[in-house]
Amino acid sequence: MKRYILLTFALISILVTAYFIDSYNKVADLNSGGLRIGLTIGNNEENFKSKHTQNQYKHLGLRVKTFNNYTTSNKIVGVPDLIFSIDANIDTSNLYFTLRKNSSLVVETSNFDEINNYLQFNKEDNNYEVTVELEYSFRFIKGYYQEKFLIDIDYPMEVILNKTSVSKGDFITITTKNRSDGDFIETTSDLNKLSLEFYQDGEELLGFLPIDYKEELGNHCINLNSKCYQFEIVDKQFNEVHFNIDNSTLKRTSSDEAYKQYYQALNQAYEENTETIMYEDKFIIPTEGRLSSDFLDTRYINESKTPSSYHQGIDIANKEGSKIYAVASGKVVLSQDLTVSGNSIIIYHGANLYSVYYHLSELKVDVGEKITQGQLIGLMGTTGMSTGSHLHFAMRIGSTYIDPWIFIKEANDGSIFEK
Ligand SMILES: [Zn+2]
Repeated sequence: MKRYILLTFALISILVTAYFIDSYNKVADLNSGGLRIGLTIGNNEENFKSKHTQNQYKHLGLRVKTFNNYTTSNKIVGVPDLIFSIDANIDTSNLYFTLRKNSSLVVETSNFDEINNYLQFNKEDNNYEVTVELEYSFRFIKGYYQEKFLIDIDYPMEVILNKTSVSKGDFITITTKNRSDGDFIETTSDLNKLSLEFYQDGEELLGFLPIDYKEELGNHCINLNSKCYQFEIVDKQFNEVHFNIDNSTLKRTSSDEAYKQYYQALNQAYEENTETIMYEDKFIIPTEGRLSSDFLDTRYINESKTPSSYHQGIDIANKEGSKIYAVASGKVVLSQDLTVSGNSIIIYHGANLYSVYYHLSELKVDVGEKITQGQLIGLMGTTGMSTGSHLHFAMRIGSTYIDPWIFIKEANDGSIFEK
């Protein structure tokens, strides 16, 4: 009986040993020493990067020795295409993947394609961590394995126009996505007047492309880093206005000398265009009253047959001394009595954006003064070329006047202005 037991034990021992030798060899044969898990990033030669991790099995106990085999860094440029691979002749059906962004979980899946889908759908620069967990079995050898891959995705900078159809006096907002340090935008255009500057807005760039009233209708092109972005200038009707100014006032306020003084003062004021954005999300109305002249009214003065001017702001009429407020926070770049525009204030709001207030009876702020939205800046009057107490209010992007209603429409519930 004892002999049988011994014999049986010996036989089992031989079988078990043979089995383990066999299993070890099989794994070893497959990939020179174990399980190989790979993550390949990128879809072309240039951004091909990969990280492989290799596990070497020890006979029996499955003590795992891990060594990593990196090729350069994991930083990639372009649309990522992660390719996950396992080289081993073992059952890897129990796979489990996670994708983390700034250490919070964004994808949890057992299908690796979902990670690719996520990355390709969310086209944004980021650092991600991919974790793979694997329960494997080879015959009766079972185990658990985990590996982390860090990937750094850097998309090429994308330029976004908020609209492709725009009317005269309106503007297109241009922003960027996935901008990296040092990325900038070079601009050319077929417009007659190009007042587009880019400013840093967080990590990204921001620029306003104003459409001057003299631009031709139809299709145009703004070249940003040599790529043409098409947009259309569409027609918009403006009013014809006929009115009289007594000849002595007209002569005095529109003389060559008066205009020389006016443009000299303005040129100096509009030199201020620092990077800092000071304006709020919403603008306020500068004053209350009756809308006596709208944006781009075609003006015929003293029965002239040809237009004298196109009104590049809006006129709000009210009694002399009515309070005038800053539409947004900024810095005063002009506060001066000018023959053409009377007591005048210009405020710079950042990102090439200015607000303009003319014909005041009194100036309440000085050049260089930083002011907050809603601050009292002056009182309404009829100084300069004016036929009655009103505020001429204008908005300007660089050297181009734009429709002030774009900014104050939201602030105005319709009851404050009588048209
Ligand atoms: Zn006006």
